[in-house]
Amino acid sequence: MESRVLRGSVVRDAVFADLQRKVRARARPPGLAVILVGDDPASQVYVRHKSKGCEQVGFRQQTIRLPAETRQQEVLDRLARLNADPATDGILVQLPLPAHIDAEQVLLALDPRKDVDGFHPENLGRLVSGRPRFVPCTPKGILRLLAHHGVSVAGQRVAVVGRSIIVGRPLALLLGLKGPAGDATVTLCHSSTRDLPAVVQEADIVVAAMGVPGGLDRRHVRRGAVVVDVGINRIDDPAARNGTRLVGDVAPEALAGWAAAYTPVPGGVGPMTIAMLLENTWEAMVSRESTA
Ligand code: NDP
Repeated sequence: MESRVLRGSVVRDAVFADLQRKVRARARPPGLAVILVGDDPASQVYVRHKSKGCEQVGFRQQTIRLPAETRQQEVLDRLARLNADPATDGILVQLPLPAHIDAEQVLLALDPRKDVDGFHPENLGRLVSGRPRFVPCTPKGILRLLAHHGVSVAGQRVAVVGRSIIVGRPLALLLGLKGPAGDATVTLCHSSTRDLPAVVQEADIVVAAMGVPGGLDRRHVRRGAVVVDVGINRIDDPAARNGTRLVGDVAPEALAGWAAAYTPVPGGVGPMTIAMLLENTWEAMVSRESTA
């Protein structure tokens, strides 16, 4: 079977070009602030990508780097200053936070109108009620990626494997919303799902967001399904230049030549997450200006 590769990089480039054009026509650029506490290596990489994306589209960007032992109150104080700063339209706190900081308290302290990651309870509540404000970037990016490549989710059976608050749970909600961008029949799977292969086999579209390299294979993915591989896992590979490489959550045997279409890792969902973060920041600026 000839499988289509659903690249996110091409969609990201189109989103970036659109944002660049809109920013040039404005008196001031949108501003994004990132708070990074500690030195988690994956977080460092993500923050670097976000900052590079801002540069590319002409956004103003600041990263506030705080040592791992920073007290929670210090993080809250920084947030309060960013909430009050008129030049800052979007704020994100890079997760995970060190264990001594209560992530929920930090998210609650964020101005929901600047919460471009969409994790504040007010924004999650709006998503549940079907009136989203900021949609979390990875789920939003997955839907945009599928739409761009002409994959309709309406009426399809979709299995989402993984129920984290940043990917699986909001994605399952979005897919189930009434309207042409949703209207899917969704099964949300997790580590307690009984007979996972049989459940996922039922799906026309499979979304793997487990964080387990090769977590899904041909036993799960039926031939001709569409596969969205969200996983970003670094594994050892003696043949690679630095001894490691990135892989997704789906075994290669269930992708090229087996799936009707699939997202590659890297270059699939990852670039979409950054693109949607910048789009949310743009929307935050426009919405704040219109209510000022
Ligand atoms: P979490 O670890 O927060 O959640 C993983 C989920 O997968 C949990 O719901 C867990 O179930 C479920 N799960 C784990 N193992 C199994 C299994 N064997 N069978 C069924 N379900 C299982 O991960 P995240 O959502 O944060 O991330 C998932 C992956 O996506 C990671 O590789 C991450 O790096 C990547 N990612 C990629 C992004 C991108 O832009 N491409 C953005 C964000 C994440 P339970 O709830 O029962 O524990």
